[in-house]
Amino acid sequence: MPLGAVGSFQIEFVEWLVLLAILVSFLVIGIVGAVWVYGDAERRGMDAGMWLALVLMGTFLGFGLGGLLVIGVYRAERLKQPGGTLPPPGGSEPRARFCGACGQPLAWIPEYRRWYCSKCGQYR
Ligand SMILES: [Zn+2]
Repeated sequence: MPLGAVGSFQIEFVEWLVLLAILVSFLVIGIVGAVWVYGDAERRGMDAGMWLALVLMGTFLGFGLGGLLVIGVYRAERLKQPGGTLPPPGGSEPRARFCGACGQPLAWIPEYRRWYCSKCGQYR
């Protein structure tokens, strides 16, 4: 084997180690983030299991970056739902919600898994 090939292999090996270290740190951030999201979502009455699964899925499928993305989405969603009014996807009795436009109580449509305002004639 020519020496040049061995040299380039060594450089590649170091590069792979650095890449691996970056990926592992992203995975660690994703897992720590998933645990945080789970605890936070549970406190707020949001669907903690779904968010935990989403962050872990994003972390492993998106090499950590996906997990960070899901955590970002969760944080935005959390701000939109300060009372924890996200309907549970488990099929159990959803909490009451009110229309943001007219204030009328919304009807939960299980087929579409969405809230419907009969006064506005729109899904919320
Ligand atoms: Zn309405």
